[in-house]
Amino acid sequence: MSSPTPFTSRIDPQHAALLQAEEKRQRETVHLIASENFASAAVREATSSPLNNKYSEGYPGARYYEGQQVIDEIERLAIARARALFGAEHANVQPYSGSPANLAVYLAFLKPGDTVLGMQLSHGGHLTHGSKASITGKYWKIVSYGLNRETQRLDYDQVRDLARQHQPKLIIAGHSAYPRQIDFAVFRQIADEVGAILLVDMAHFAGLVAGGAHPSPIPHADVVTTTAHKTLRGPRGAMILCRSQHAARIDKAVFPGLQGGPHNANTAAIAVCLQEAAQPEFADYARRCVSNAQSFASGLLEKGFDLVSGGTDNHLILVDLRNKGLGGKPVAKALDRAGLVANYNAVPWDDCPPQNPSGLRLGSPAMTTRGFGEAEFRRVTEWIDRIVRSRLDESVIAAIAGEVRAFCAAYPLP
Ligand SMILES: *Cc1c(COP(=O)(O)O)cnc(C)c1O
Repeated sequence: MSSPTPFTSRIDPQHAALLQAEEKRQRETVHLIASENFASAAVREATSSPLNNKYSEGYPGARYYEGQQVIDEIERLAIARARALFGAEHANVQPYSGSPANLAVYLAFLKPGDTVLGMQLSHGGHLTHGSKASITGKYWKIVSYGLNRETQRLDYDQVRDLARQHQPKLIIAGHSAYPRQIDFAVFRQIADEVGAILLVDMAHFAGLVAGGAHPSPIPHADVVTTTAHKTLRGPRGAMILCRSQHAARIDKAVFPGLQGGPHNANTAAIAVCLQEAAQPEFADYARRCVSNAQSFASGLLEKGFDLVSGGTDNHLILVDLRNKGLGGKPVAKALDRAGLVANYNAVPWDDCPPQNPSGLRLGSPAMTTRGFGEAEFRRVTEWIDRIVRSRLDESVIAAIAGEVRAFCAAYPLP
C-alpha cells in the first residue's frame, strides 16, 4: 500500500505516524458523537489546497490585499450557494467556527452588559449562549430558559415570562443537546413582543434543514448561525445567514470586528459542501439521520434506557443513566475502550456536576454517512446494553472492542 501521508512521512515521520494512527482509529471505531461527521474527499481536498496560502482581509470586491482574482469568485460562490440552499437574504461565510460566529452576532447587536436570553447549558444550550465559563456569560447579562420538568420539552411559557420580565435585546434559540424540534414561530412572537433580535443557532441541525428533514428557522429569525462541520458535513467553519437589513452590521462584526483574514481553503470547502448538500442524495441522508436516530432511540427504550423527552425527532439522543446506577463519564470511557465513541453530557436537573454528569449523548450523523441503517444501530444498542449490564466489566469491553473493529471494516471512511 502506498503511504497515505507521502509528504509528511518524508519530512516528519513522527507526525506521519500520528496522522496514520488517527485515521486508523476513525476507521475502526463507531462514531456516535452527535456533533461529528465525516466530510467527503472533495471537501477535504479543498481544505488542503493552495487556497491555504492566501490572505484576503475584507470581502469580495473590497479587499485589503491584492491577488484576489480567484478568491473573490470562490467566496462569492460559497455565499450564493449558502443563500440559495437555505433561502437566506444574506450570508457571511468567513467565521472561523461556530463560537466566533455567535460572538460576532453579540458584537453586531449588543453593548457589553446588555441582556441576552438563551438556553441553559445544562438543558441543552451551548457555551456561547451565555454560560458563565464563556466570554458571553462574562461580558453580558444572561438570563436562561430550559425545559419543562414534566414533558422534558422546551418550556415556551418560561421563555415568554423571562422575556417579559428581563426585556432582552437578543434571544437565542438553538441547542447542542436537545433531541426535539424547536417551534421557531413561537420564538419569533416572543422576540417581537419584547422588541428583541432573534438568533437561531442551528449548528447541530443545519444539515437536516438543508435536506428538508427539519423545519427551517430562516423565515422566523433575524439571524441564523451555523457550523459547517456537524450535520452539514463540511469543513470546520461556520456561516451567518441574515436578513438584508442586518447584512452590513454582521459583516462588519465578523471583519474587522472580530477576525482578520478568512480561511480561504475552508471557504472553498464550504462551497463544496453546500453543493453536495443541494443534491437529492443529501436529502436522503438527512432523512436517514432522523430515522436512524429514531430507531436507535426505540432500541434503547426497549433495553430500559431512560431518554430525555422519551425519544428524538432530530439526529441526537440524550440518555439519562441515573436509572442504571452508572455515571455518564465512566460509561462514555468504557464505551470508548470498546470502540464506541460518544460523550458524557449533563441531563436537565442533573444532581451530578458537569465534570461527572448523569447523561450520555448519542448521535446518528457520522455513522449514517458511513452507511449505517436501522440494523447497524440495533447492533450498537446491543453492544451498549451489554457493557452497561456488565457494570463496565473489562472482559466484556475487550470482547466487544474486537467485534466493533471487525464490524467497522465493512463501513469505510468516505
Ligand atoms: C457546536 C456548536 C457551536 C460552536 O461551534 P464550534 O465550531 O465548536 O465553535 C455553537 N453553537 C452550537 C449550538 C453548537 O452546537
